[in-house]
Amino acid sequence: MAAREPPDRFRISAKELGQLAMRGFCERCFWIGRHYDLPFVGPFPGIFSSLDSYSKKIVHAAFDRHGTSPSWLAPLGRFTSYIPPPSPSKFYWDDDTSGLRLTGAPDGILVRDDGRKVIVDYKTARHTEAQDELRPIYEVQLNGYAAIAEVRGLGPVDRLALVYTEPVTDGHSSLYESAQTEEGFALGFRATIDEVPLNPSILPPLMRQARKIYDAPHPPAGAPGCEDCARFHELWTAAQGWG
Ligand code: SF4
Repeated sequence: MAAREPPDRFRISAKELGQLAMRGFCERCFWIGRHYDLPFVGPFPGIFSSLDSYSKKIVHAAFDRHGTSPSWLAPLGRFTSYIPPPSPSKFYWDDDTSGLRLTGAPDGILVRDDGRKVIVDYKTARHTEAQDELRPIYEVQLNGYAAIAEVRGLGPVDRLALVYTEPVTDGHSSLYESAQTEEGFALGFRATIDEVPLNPSILPPLMRQARKIYDAPHPPAGAPGCEDCARFHELWTAAQGWG
């Protein structure tokens, strides 16, 4: 498999950039993933994407019908409208210092009456410690969206938030009459809001680091303590002798 040539303008999503902020980040994994089309990287389960997208539709429907956001978003303030989230082909920031094109696809850009914006990302998940471990990624992702929004003239952004929506399966929820529908059943969701500090200054060092790793002519060293590369090398060497 031939490696791809590094382009002048290296494109990366804000979420992918967030990987660099994770504890245990492996520069070699990042380099390999950026230079080769790996056959074994599975897609994100479609049901979660559908549910995140449904959360977005529910919020937009509340604006369209009542001219305001649903009550469960009240901890973030009062909103009068929303901006339909642009696609990554229109929502990007070309940073000339790092040579990166930072892209994003925000779930929600909510607008206050004074024109300030709050960017939200919907997560169909329970807000758990496991989710908190991913927080460094989400912080970079949302701050990336804020930086892009400012560059694309969609600011000013003054707050960022993760909105966790968790299926309500406890108590007597299955006994409610409203749970039964003609086609099947309806499942309720409970929302929890987790504000993320607005701090786009975390981005430039990560963007420079991403560019540096990407431009390296050879794979950098692997993550300390990870022995999988050595195992793979062993397997590869053994496979040379297979008939
Ligand atoms: S060191 Fe581990 S994490 Fe890094 S590329 Fe090798 S297998 Fe992947």
